[in-house]
Amino acid sequence: MSHAIKKIRGVNVEFNPCPFCGGRPEWVDVPGSDYIMRCSSCHASTKVARWTPKEAATDWNNHEIVDDNFNITEDEKIDVYLADGIKKVLFSEYSNIEPFPTTEGGFLCSAMVILTDKILLHIEPEGAHLLYDEICSYGHNYYIKPIAEANTKIQFIKSQWRKESLRSLVFICGNKTITISANAKHQCLIVNEE
Ligand SMILES: [Zn+2]
Repeated sequence: MSHAIKKIRGVNVEFNPCPFCGGRPEWVDVPGSDYIMRCSSCHASTKVARWTPKEAATDWNNHEIVDDNFNITEDEKIDVYLADGIKKVLFSEYSNIEPFPTTEGGFLCSAMVILTDKILLHIEPEGAHLLYDEICSYGHNYYIKPIAEANTKIQFIKSQWRKESLRSLVFICGNKTITISANAKHQCLIVNEE
């Protein structure tokens, strides 16, 4: 297997091809400005989020890789996962300086994490749609806002799609209906509570 070298954020990083399929790895930003390296072809990834791309590349080159981690969830599965039983929903900061600014009928945040019995979904906005990744660990604790008190029953109601893009999610949480959508202008999530 031959090494390839890529310059990322001004640093030369050497990496091997994917041990599972021979594919070319890429970096994935995870909450807290950490990095995971994953195969662009089969989505096998490193196990632990690292501070720098170089550390993630070292994990990758040392074969600290799992072959089913950090998969992009197939579109048709997301509703099934969410309907299966949401245990917890967390929002993370809009910015380090001003967390959770309010807007008409709700607040803004940068990203959302949804834990179900089966998966942990990380959701963030990109333009007017929501991106989501399945991840296995989440160690970022700054400006975390939980959706409700512990043990509150959270029930998934519906999602809205446009072609293959997820546009919004609706939950009932206690006696509140929570709608999460993306705002293309602000590049943030809008969380509306009714
Ligand atoms: Zn691969």
